[in-house]
Amino acid sequence: MTTSPNLPANFIDSIINEDLQNNKNDSRVHTRFPPEPNGYLHIGHAKSICLNFGTANKYKGLCNLRFDDTNPSKEEVEYVDSIKADVEWLGFSWDDRMYYASDYFEKLYQCAILLIKNGKAYVCDLTAEQMREYRGTLVEPGKESPYRNRSVEENLELFQRMREGEFADGSRVLRAKIDMASPNLNMRDPVVYRVMHAHHHRTGDQWSIYPMYDFAHPISDAIEGITHSVCTLEFEDHRPLYDWVLQELTEMDFPSRPRQIEFARLNLTKMIMSKRKLRALVEQGYVSGWDDPRMPTISGLRRRGYTPEAIRDFCDRIGIAKSNSTVDIAMLEHCIREDLNAKAPRVMAVLRPIKLILDNYPEGQIEQLEAENNPENPEMGTRTIPFSRELYIEQDDFMEDPPKKFFRLTPGKEVRLKYAYIIKCESIVKDEATGQITEIHCTYDPDSKSGGPTAGRKIKGTLHWVSAAQAVPGIVRLYDYLFREDSQDNDDFAAAFNPDSLEELTDCMIEPSMAGASAGSRYQFLRQGYFCVDPLSTNEKLVINQIVGLRDSWAKAQKA
Ligand code: ATP
Ligand code: MG
Repeated sequence: MTTSPNLPANFIDSIINEDLQNNKNDSRVHTRFPPEPNGYLHIGHAKSICLNFGTANKYKGLCNLRFDDTNPSKEEVEYVDSIKADVEWLGFSWDDRMYYASDYFEKLYQCAILLIKNGKAYVCDLTAEQMREYRGTLVEPGKESPYRNRSVEENLELFQRMREGEFADGSRVLRAKIDMASPNLNMRDPVVYRVMHAHHHRTGDQWSIYPMYDFAHPISDAIEGITHSVCTLEFEDHRPLYDWVLQELTEMDFPSRPRQIEFARLNLTKMIMSKRKLRALVEQGYVSGWDDPRMPTISGLRRRGYTPEAIRDFCDRIGIAKSNSTVDIAMLEHCIREDLNAKAPRVMAVLRPIKLILDNYPEGQIEQLEAENNPENPEMGTRTIPFSRELYIEQDDFMEDPPKKFFRLTPGKEVRLKYAYIIKCESIVKDEATGQITEIHCTYDPDSKSGGPTAGRKIKGTLHWVSAAQAVPGIVRLYDYLFREDSQDNDDFAAAFNPDSLEELTDCMIEPSMAGASAGSRYQFLRQGYFCVDPLSTNEKLVINQIVGLRDSWAKAQKA
């Protein structure tokens, strides 16, 4: 399914190998991918998906999909559905192991009760502001809450009443009783439950208290028998708390004793990777939706034309490290080029057409010329393309007053038309009012077709073209990056947004073999790049997204 079983070992593998040697957790490997359903997944999540599912595959273990839906205010069913679709599309399967952290609300509550009974948690009435004051700083220890030494009975009673909805939001919390002098702020009696009268997408209005991530996550892992809980580096300082929670709950007899392992999150140049910011882009109308082809979301990349193979290859290549870094987006683009180079059929499409008339070509004649579908992959065979007296070529493949070394079409000069004839420009017609060129008139050399007596003549330029009468009209969307410069930290979209990130060309002419092409099919347009048919495409008018141009700056940089 993925290349992962053959991947070189990373530092996580070393940890797992050691655990296997020590027969930890009965030598099982069980991971999970735990998205919070508060947005669509992005390419950074793909790294985590490939790592978690890939590691399970590598060790013939299991990987669960778990929706981390402990925070009721933001989560929506739409996000759950999109996350499932994205993980499947990437080529991974959770089989029957799809869970919700909210399924464990009752168990989590029981765990909290156990902590209280063991004198390890207490109900605290400090306000949020007081809590901050009591917390101390990195250089000063915190102060103990005056509620810290409430009796077990009182704590049990208050916690029960918190559950029953008696108290207002923010009026009381349940805190773990750890160490207000710990150098790690996460260990200074962290909040494990808060009062929140909020509707939850799955449990409805059943709960008036909700568990905090640092409490819910280790327990959810342990309930599911997870052995290796892989997360990103910002949770490194939370690991002592993760371990503390499980240590204090050994009585619960969970099926595993998971360990948390942190790795560096993916950052990409030219892209933002925060769901909050991506949601803002959608909500403020900077993009057409979560699946706008400019978005770094999996659904955006899919609509753009990226393949799951290319994304998995990218995730394999970037590797797994313990320190944060930023990957050049050119590498992602390289991966899709590599994948499509062998797979995508070649076609000719004229994006900014100008009429070209062959004055000496018989009127009404149509020839069917043979063209190879993919020179990199002869097995893909050939097709025929109609050729006639009236063609379209690209506007910028012609220049009336060319600079030196312009090897395309100019007055009096010759070029070759791909798969067809050598032509010579004889004259041009201009619109009298605007001065714009409306027609290019040429003659063709009838002997210069492939196999013909003059076919081998040395001609510098070769142009793509379509036959005017048979070409299919299309809309082609060209893309640039969403942001002007690397603006990962920039919240000011108005300043950072690249207004030229979408250029829609509405008069494109495409060779007839692409007529009726289905959404999601991918092509290489000769000399232009890779393109993918959009879901909005119809039989009457093709709608096509540019995936990536042909110039591979990544491959070039590797060679240099
Ligand atoms: P965001 O900051 O974009 O909201 P998140 O970490 O809050 O991301 P979650 O839904 O909690 O999003 O993430 C699910 C999993 O994906 C987590 O294990 C998280 O560590 C991982 N993940 C999120 N972003 C990245 C990234 N850029 N690179 C690698 N893994 C990531
Ligand atoms: Mg998160």
